[in-house]
Amino acid sequence: MPWPTQPDTDITELIDREVERQNTGLQLIASENFTSPAVMDAVGSVLTNKYSEGYPSKRYYGGNQVVDEIEDIARRRVCELFGADAANVQPHSGANANLGVYLALLDAGDTVLGLSLDHGGHLTHGSPVNISGRFYDFVSYGLTPSDERLDLDQLRDLALEHRPKMIVAGATAYPRIIDPAPIREICDEVGALFLFDAAHIAGLIAGGAHPNPVPYADVVTFTTHKTLRGPRGGCIVSRAEHAAAIDKAIFPGLQGGPLEHVIAGKAVAFAEAATPEFGDYARQIVANAAALADALGERGFRLVSGGTENHLMLIDLRTFDEELTGKDAQNALDDAGITLNKNTVPDDPRSPFVTSGLRIGTPSVTTQGMKEPEMVQIAELMTRVLADTGDTAEIAAVRDDVRALCSKFPVY
Ligand SMILES: *Cc1c(COP(=O)(O)O)cnc(C)c1O
Repeated sequence: MPWPTQPDTDITELIDREVERQNTGLQLIASENFTSPAVMDAVGSVLTNKYSEGYPSKRYYGGNQVVDEIEDIARRRVCELFGADAANVQPHSGANANLGVYLALLDAGDTVLGLSLDHGGHLTHGSPVNISGRFYDFVSYGLTPSDERLDLDQLRDLALEHRPKMIVAGATAYPRIIDPAPIREICDEVGALFLFDAAHIAGLIAGGAHPNPVPYADVVTFTTHKTLRGPRGGCIVSRAEHAAAIDKAIFPGLQGGPLEHVIAGKAVAFAEAATPEFGDYARQIVANAAALADALGERGFRLVSGGTENHLMLIDLRTFDEELTGKDAQNALDDAGITLNKNTVPDDPRSPFVTSGLRIGTPSVTTQGMKEPEMVQIAELMTRVLADTGDTAEIAAVRDDVRALCSKFPVY
């Protein structure tokens, strides 16, 4: 059958609508970004046609001469970017990267320490609804009640008590720098492997706006689509001694054929992230987050841990309005073209489907060129919506103002 000559308008029209949505609203989801046209060209290329099970020069199928070069470039670039010994660029996602590391370095039932989900950890750090929590014996550490920072004393006590095979650091909703040095010391004290999950902050690390965990951790996993601004996918960098086990765990242990079109997109993103301009970008993400946090604080919102040092912040809505839930706030803001997600705050009395908080990130708005003055505007737009989530006229007015602001910073 020849290819259809008519476009599939069911889908093309929806894609057009999504372009419109991304162009005309404020994208404040902390794990999202706008990837470059060069990355999208690679992901939309004929590389999607190729089966390449295995690794460069060790493939199960023929015809991989070109693909081998692409995957080698991706591996070399990411090792240079982070100063790592070895890389596996095949994980289809951040979750698969973590699972691959567990499969490589742990046995079922081994004890692992991870940050608890309701203090900002990720599902793959031992949640009972995730395979990590079902196959391994995860013990959760958390934040201090006083300043809502990582509780390193508790982490050390738990490590001494449980003698874990691995300690997982990293978070999905934590607004502070995670210093890898003291965690390495705890790992050394109890003989644990150190996995640093840098999914959210890989771009900040690449741009020099967050300490690099690679010199400290045995393995660092990350996603390529968050602050790193590449295609949707995962990556693992490790010390040389773990590379063979990790490669075997990703393929054939966990995945089949690699997504070489996405790997080509990763290679493009790694080169973009190695430029001095990307360092400026990473610093501006952090400056924008700080400016937005300040402006929200001035408007009566409490920020978990009192502020931010990275690309995201967590709002505890209760000081602004005791009755306002994260769920209702998210929905009202969505109606105004401000996209973000509800999030639990530490020891949240409400369920994860309702929550008392919001998570906000600045990677996307920074990519489109917004700076500190626009962050103050965003705080004001959010406050107008959240002051009365039932005021549909005001929400419509904010929607117009959001559209006007975004039109000055076109994305696609
Ligand atoms: C986003 C994230 C992941 C998972 O990434 P996916 O690509 O969504 O599977 C893993 N760990 C952390 C800390 C994350 O923030």
